[in-house]
Amino acid sequence: MISPTKKGMNRRTFIKTGMAGTAAALIAPPAFADTLMQIAVSDPDTIPKLVYRTLGRTGLKVTVVSFGAMLTPEPEVIRLAIEQGVNYINTARKYMGGKNEETVGKAVKGLRDKVFIATKVLSESRTKTEIIRDVETSLKTLGTDYIDVIQVHDPTGMEKQKIVETREALTQLKKQGKVRFCGVTTHQNEVAVLNALADDLDQFFDTCLVKYNFKSEKAVLVAINRAAAVGVGIIAMKTQVGGYDTTGLGISPHQAALKWVLQNPNITAAIPGMRDLKELKENTSVMGMPFKYADQRRLDRYAEAIDPFYCNFCGICELGCPRGVEISTINRALMYAEGGYRDLSLARTTYADLPKHATAAACMDCEGCTAHCVNGLDIAAKLDRARTVLA
Ligand code: SF4
Ligand code: SF4
Repeated sequence: MISPTKKGMNRRTFIKTGMAGTAAALIAPPAFADTLMQIAVSDPDTIPKLVYRTLGRTGLKVTVVSFGAMLTPEPEVIRLAIEQGVNYINTARKYMGGKNEETVGKAVKGLRDKVFIATKVLSESRTKTEIIRDVETSLKTLGTDYIDVIQVHDPTGMEKQKIVETREALTQLKKQGKVRFCGVTTHQNEVAVLNALADDLDQFFDTCLVKYNFKSEKAVLVAINRAAAVGVGIIAMKTQVGGYDTTGLGISPHQAALKWVLQNPNITAAIPGMRDLKELKENTSVMGMPFKYADQRRLDRYAEAIDPFYCNFCGICELGCPRGVEISTINRALMYAEGGYRDLSLARTTYADLPKHATAAACMDCEGCTAHCVNGLDIAAKLDRARTVLA
């Protein structure tokens, strides 16, 4: 994505000069800029081997390891990734208490033509006016004239009027050239969402950002392949199953988890969240690596370590709760707070988005939890924890 346009420069040379002229000089404080320069210049292994796949019917050629920006506080890290050729950035207004789009905006300044940007409309926006206002705000915050992929969250649960207004708003924005493609996201209910996209005769949504990892059910894989067969571009998120702290394991399972997901050619890209240069290097160097037996062994150990607290957000336990507590979303919020994310702001925002009756507050006067986890998690303890950490 970088060097072919720069006559007389190979990619590494361009990165060196690019770093000097752009990220280092533009936004980074001197010490941090120096660090970036040193890494970009002195460590050839930092520069990933770029591998691309086509994002379904959008036709966008996307690096298979792309950038999930939700955890990245420094624009310089995103900028370095772009300068190294990573060309798809996923953000959302909700991330980092609203600051994440701003960070991405700083990162892409002067590099907009090198990168595709995906963001989301706010899930609470219901009307055409609200959705258009959302996108206009994102455009302004990102400092761009267009968004490549605008995403809405799980349309299968939306009431009909909201679907109509969402489609009208996005159609208008596409006509105006403010968005190029529309997509959906799903953390749970993955099979239903993917099948709905596959069955949509209008083919309105071109992409699906779906939770998919080595612990996903086989049915999710089947649905991914079905949606991909009709041209839906598939981006995988939560590929590291929550990115839990693995220092006690003595190994990092993160590369293995990414490789596992990318084995399926119907997954266009994964967007692991990357906080810093170490994580950037660890993740992007996976491009082109095969999944091996040793990777499977690492994943087996990782699974064993996280099984006592891993929730796959299947929602089955909610059938046992007479009060409609959204246990899966509460567990997701807890994961943001206490898993590898360590993002209390996102955790609390996710929790606060729930209607009051669906929060753990509804459990206060409940005489004994009748919700049961298919994976054996102690739901009452989780809800107790949620009241302490998230309320
Ligand atoms: S404690 Fe009661 S209200 Fe809370 S999830 Fe369990 S059954 Fe539902
Ligand atoms: S707590 Fe268990 S049953 Fe409930 S959503 Fe999580 S994994 Fe599924």
